[in-house]
Formats: sequence, C-alpha cells, structure tokens
Amino acid sequence: MKKTKHDQTPRDNLPVSVRKPELPPRPQSLPSSPPRLSPRPLEPTDVPPPPASVQPESTLAPGPNRERDLYQIVAQVGEGTFGQVYKARNTQSGKYVALKRIRMESERDGFPVTAMREIKLLQSLRHENVINLHEMMVSKGNVYMVFEYMDHDLTGILSQNNFHFTEGHLKSLCHQMLAGIAYLHQKAVIHRDMKGSNILINNQGILKIADFGLARFYQKRRRTDYTNRVITLWYRPPELLLGATVYGPEVDMWSVGCIMLELFTKKPIFQGNDEIHQLETIYKLMGTPSVEEWVGFSDLPWYELVKPPEKIKNRFRSAFQKYLSPTALDLAQKLLEYDPAKRITASDALDTSFFKVEPAAVLPVDLANLEGEWHEYESKMERERKKRIPQDMEVS
Ligand code: ADP
Ligand code: MG
Repeated sequence: MKKTKHDQTPRDNLPVSVRKPELPPRPQSLPSSPPRLSPRPLEPTDVPPPPASVQPESTLAPGPNRERDLYQIVAQVGEGTFGQVYKARNTQSGKYVALKRIRMESERDGFPVTAMREIKLLQSLRHENVINLHEMMVSKGNVYMVFEYMDHDLTGILSQNNFHFTEGHLKSLCHQMLAGIAYLHQKAVIHRDMKGSNILINNQGILKIADFGLARFYQKRRRTDYTNRVITLWYRPPELLLGATVYGPEVDMWSVGCIMLELFTKKPIFQGNDEIHQLETIYKLMGTPSVEEWVGFSDLPWYELVKPPEKIKNRFRSAFQKYLSPTALDLAQKLLEYDPAKRITASDALDTSFFKVEPAAVLPVDLANLEGEWHEYESKMERERKKRIPQDMEVS
C-alpha cells in the first residue's frame, strides 16, 4: 500500500490557537539498551487533575517504591504526530501497556492543549471497543499516557499477507467498529480521525478505537460551526471537502464506510493527492451527486470552485461485488451516502441485515498465531527494510 503525505492526519491544519511550532529532529532509532522509566508522582502542574478512575497506582506514589522502574520499554510501536508510542512492560504485574509520550519540548505555555483535550475525552469514555486510558505518568520530565496494549492496528495487519480474515472475521471487525463509534456518538463525541492506524486489534480479536487527538464533544441539539480541516484526506467525507463547517457525527460514518471497504479489499479505496483530486476520486466510483440526491450540495461553500465538470455514473456495485456480499454492499453504500442527512447512523448500521444473515460474526482469535505484532509503524519499517535489501546486496 503506497503512502503519501496525504495519508497523514491533517493536524498541521488545526486552527492557529493550537498550531504546533516546528518540532526538533528526533533520533532515528531507539538506544540499544531500552530506557527504563522511573516514575515520580504526578504534580498538579504537570497534567490536568485526573479523576479517580485514572489516579496513578499506588506504586507511583512517594514512598519506598518511588524510584523503582515501573515500566520497562520493550519496543517502539508508533510514531505519532505529537510523540512516540512504546510497548512497555509493567515490571510488577508483568502486563504490557502502551506509553504514548506527549511532546512537551516546544510548548511554551505549559501542557499542550490538544493533549489536554485528548485526556479529558478519554477519561469520560469506557467501552469494550474504545481504548482504555489506564493513567497518566510523568518520568524524567516526560509525560506519558498509559494505555492498555494492543498487538496490532488495522493498517499494520492489512499490510501483510500472513493472516487471512474470513468473512465472519470481517463481519466481527465491522460490528465492533460500529459498536465503538455508536457508543462515541451516543456520548456526543465525534472522533474526526477514523482510519486504519487509529483502529487497534489485540490477539483476542478485540477491536478498539484509539487516537482521540482530533475528537471533540458536539452539541446534540444545536448544529454549530467547527473546523473542516479534520479527518485524514482519504477518509474525509465529501461535505468537508466542499467546505462544510456545520457538521455532526455523520462525518465519522463516511470514514467507517471507507474502512469497511478497505477491510474487504485490503487497500484504501479513495486515494486522492489533494482535496480536489480526492473529490474526483470519489466521483469516479460513486458517481457525481445530483442536487435531488443531495439537497444542499450546491449551497456548500466551495461548490463553485470544485463542482464536477461532467456527470459521472455510479459504478460502486460493479466495482465491489467481487469482494463483498450483497448485504455488505448495501451497508457500505449506506455509509458512503453523499447527503450527510441521509447517511446511516452507527446504531442503525448495527441493525442492518448484514449482521443478521450467515455467516455469523467470528472474533479473529487466530491472530494470536500470527508471527509479529503489526502496527503501521512496523509495517513501514518492514517496507523500508525490504527497499534497502537490493542496495545492501549491491554493496557486498
Ligand atoms: P497519533 O495521534 O500521533 O496518531 P496514536 O494514538 O494514533 O497517535 O498512536 C500512534 C500509533 O501507535 C497508532 O497508529 C498505533 O499503531 C500505535 N498505538 C497507539 N496506541 C496503542 C496501544 N494502546 N497499543 C498498541 N499500539 C498503540
Ligand atoms: Mg493516530
């Protein structure tokens, strides 16, 4: 799967108030002996006060254990926009966690606003299909979010060919993703960055939605203005590409539709290079929308700039019928509905016939037999390693 800069979360485009200054260069690799973290207790000035549910464990409190290394870093598993993610072992319980480091270097005004927002949101959520933030930790001047560890992410797992998902597995993944997003929407949270690398899976076959860096609470009763510079380009719905700033949870449902098709075909379906090309790519498959089909289409802010030059027919079914069953196709089509007002909601999607017909959903528990742990990061490293092989051979 080819990656371009357009596959990146559009965080550079955040409003000026949260725009990040240039970050310092980061080291290319981890030191050969993994750093050990000696946690110290949280201080009120370090992070926003955590509620009881994420209070640091007693081992982090001052006392005889204070200087013990609670977490030992095992490997890097993610290179985030705002900091690295590590797999680490809790030396007391033996359990694995993911440590997401919050970049503080470039912050002049204390704790980063975006990280603060992410923590607050995560603290209010608890669902089997949403990542669980265990606690916050401060070690040697770094602040970490401590998460339950997940063996893979969707981008990583789809990038390698050693595991075959059956139709039942794919149904289960779709169901779990929809259950997670239905919960978020019911809690009035829009995720705004649904894509493969933000969807984690563990070896028990459980899927969890992660990365709440762009998420926000929305007004359920009153539609309000938000920034439209959200959602990674390939997963961004047409209304945002056409400049809409008044939107709701439907934006996530478009992304879910893209991810569902990616699960079945193993590659991202709309791979545009920029906003205009992204719209053209969508038109080529889904046809150009008519004003009858999408009321309000021509009123969108950038309609005149990017309106379709000619009429294109929808060829969605013919393109995907060899990958998806008829009921799966029906659901995908409802998720990729042009008019956000007509786009299916997560709770209605869970009720569609796709989940009622055979084959039944099956948790992909066989993932436990798969060699390696596959996140976007490892698959990127693997690709780079493969690219280097011919060169290395030339040298020797
Ligand atoms: P960013 O906001 O920088 O994209 P993410 O939260 O998406 O940060 O984390 C970056 C990557 O790290 C993810 O794509 C995923 O591969 C990995 N990752 C994040 N959280 C976990 C976790 N709890 N367990 C395992 N890997 C994780
Ligand atoms: Mg991410």
